[in-house]
Amino acid sequence: MTINVLFAAGSERFDLYRPHLEQGLADAGIAANLTTDAAPDQVDYIIYAPDSTLRDFTPYTRCKAVLNLWAGVEAIVGNDTLTQPLARMVDHGLTQGMIEWVTGHTLRHHLGMDIHIHGQDGHWRSEIPAPPLAAERSVTILGLGALGAACAKALVGLGFNVSGWSNSPKTIEGVTCYHGAHQLSNALKGAEIVILLLPATPQTENTLNAETLSHLARGAVLINPGRGPLIDDAALLAALDSGQVGHATLDVFRVEPLPADDPYWAHPNVTVVPHKASETRPHTAAQVIVENIRRGQSGLPFLHLVDRTAGY
Ligand code: NAP
Repeated sequence: MTINVLFAAGSERFDLYRPHLEQGLADAGIAANLTTDAAPDQVDYIIYAPDSTLRDFTPYTRCKAVLNLWAGVEAIVGNDTLTQPLARMVDHGLTQGMIEWVTGHTLRHHLGMDIHIHGQDGHWRSEIPAPPLAAERSVTILGLGALGAACAKALVGLGFNVSGWSNSPKTIEGVTCYHGAHQLSNALKGAEIVILLLPATPQTENTLNAETLSHLARGAVLINPGRGPLIDDAALLAALDSGQVGHATLDVFRVEPLPADDPYWAHPNVTVVPHKASETRPHTAAQVIVENIRRGQSGLPFLHLVDRTAGY
């Protein structure tokens, strides 16, 4: 039997994904018609991206699962017409990209690289102290899921003093783990670098606000590759102005692209990155999609299912 797989993740992405998906489906022995256009009641699986134009899932009566190409699902998780299982992207290419981005930006701030990169002016700045060793630097990661846990392990591997925070209790070697709203202040207390890898849900909105920012070490650095709504922007700008936060490297924003008149652009202690921390890589992501289709066809449980109630 030939199944119909609707690629509803944008025609511009179709060319990038098509060869990898077709090869993967063929390797898995699945006869599939991969298309960007199919009669809704004939579709077996939908490959999806948050910027898809597909909003009404009601006519997809035969569809066994919606397979998201992105890790974040806030744009689809609340869609009431979606009654099919929703899987998100957990992929080693995406994870590796995030590890590299997070460790790179952490090391930038830990080593104080900026002052030397921007200080090529003939002045021998021997008065600037050498950075401490990583073991003397407290790093806190908010979110210990697929990406946060991987970044935490990488930072432990570099020698950092790493704490983490999640919804449920965790055990990660070398990481001091906290969980639940009641332990957030413990996780943030004295942190010098804070990395946000939480999903955007009603519960995580404004996780960093005036009160929680006050727990950080003075001059702490924020690195946000998670989602814009995790931060109360007015509180962060105030903390940057007061010196409570020394620098913020922001990859994600409430409004993207970040409007040209947004105060973050003009702030001397902010680095704006255009949502490039880690992208889904077609060649690795296609394997994850094919594996879930294979599971669906074999009656096995899908991988990486979203908990619609929790919102991630
Ligand atoms: P994940 O596996 O679902 O992990 C989410 C983590 O957040 C989990 O540890 C979860 O706790 C924790 N969490 C959720 N709600 C919480 C709450 N209310 N309080 C405390 N902890 C909470 O997600 P992931 O794959 O690591 O991805 C994380 C996020 O990264 C995505 O949602 C997306 O927004 C972002 N992302 C960004 C980029 C980029 O390029 N900028 C790329 C990929 C992903 P439990 O483990 O206890 O459930």
